[in-house]
Amino acid sequence: MNVLGTAIGLLIALGVMVFILLFGQSPQLRNGIIGKLHTFLTIHGPNTLFSTLKKVLGTKNWKRLAGCWQYCFNSRNPFLQLFFLFITGGSIVLFLKYALPHIPGIYLHSIHLYIIPTQIISLYVAYYIACSSNPGIITEENVQQFLDHYQYDGILYEPKECSTCQFQKPARSKHCSMCKACVGQLDHHCFWINQCVGVNNYRYFFLFLFTLVQFCAYGAYLCIQIYNAFIIEWGLDRAYMRDKATGNTVPLPYYKAMLHILQKDRIIGSIAILASVASFVVFLFCLYQLYLAGRGVTTNEAFKWELVEDSIDRGELWVEVDADADNGNNNSTKTTNRSKKGNNQKKPNTPSKRKIESLDEVENIYDRGFFYNLYDVFSPPQLLVNRSDNHHNINKKKNKNA
Ligand SMILES: [Zn+2]
Ligand SMILES: [Zn+2]
Repeated sequence: MNVLGTAIGLLIALGVMVFILLFGQSPQLRNGIIGKLHTFLTIHGPNTLFSTLKKVLGTKNWKRLAGCWQYCFNSRNPFLQLFFLFITGGSIVLFLKYALPHIPGIYLHSIHLYIIPTQIISLYVAYYIACSSNPGIITEENVQQFLDHYQYDGILYEPKECSTCQFQKPARSKHCSMCKACVGQLDHHCFWINQCVGVNNYRYFFLFLFTLVQFCAYGAYLCIQIYNAFIIEWGLDRAYMRDKATGNTVPLPYYKAMLHILQKDRIIGSIAILASVASFVVFLFCLYQLYLAGRGVTTNEAFKWELVEDSIDRGELWVEVDADADNGNNNSTKTTNRSKKGNNQKKPNTPSKRKIESLDEVENIYDRGFFYNLYDVFSPPQLLVNRSDNHHNINKKKNKNA
């Protein structure tokens, strides 16, 4: 009971934490308790920890620790890749040693003996592709193609130079301080694959996520079926117990039978719990990423849109309305800026400004509709990538949007 109770407790705590970290800054939740918990987890918690450590350790040790922190969390390093290999490799070894001898079994056909190696190979192939594919690094050679392909919307992106790469930053790109490069249509820097997720490897990132979700779900399924077979083999389906409340003898409930097996055989059960938790968490993350991709928004842009929404809430976002074309129709907006001058786009002859009241009034020009957005993710534009790297060859498919 304790093992299962702890596992369920951990599962719930992990799920809640992931939910807070993923959605705590969303416009609907950020002003409530979830938003406050997000701020605590990402700002106040770490700050309190750091200031306490600084006092306890002294300046010299603190500087050393800060150096380690910088290497671990603010620069490219293979720690999470190694952790991923360790945790998956360890689980696979334990599975092969303790669970495989029970296959085939009452509930598992011998075909699983062929599916299991295929699953293992698929996982690591997908992982390798995700780790090694070019995310869409922008170089001096290909920057013009990115500039031609991505329009500036005047809201999230305006023409400006990357101070590190020293060329004009294309719209939707971002400079990654860890990869030390500008990446086209950057989604986020992923520590698990130790590189950025951008226009060119978003599909491989999804491929890896899909593979991981079904790999973990499949592993959990096998372990649970082995436990189900134990119920039959150990005669637990025919076992009885005394009901404490009534004093009657009743058939042993399914969950009690499972708990009994878990106490006798912890390894297969632990693999099942780990695989279920991982599958569930990665599935949630996958859904969130698909939701963003379907809306034509990258993770990076999701944060930018939140800033835009903040500007709207503070009444600082205006659009210039072309009064000549307007004729009483407020929807014919030309350009947008954030209550500042320096808009480099063409000015209407008789500009008048209208305050934006809601995010619905602002158009995301990168949103081409749910299915087209997903199509773009899985069949990205053919932009020039680093020719010196074989893994960085991009799909030769024709660019639908060129
Ligand atoms: Zn840059
Ligand atoms: Zn990066």
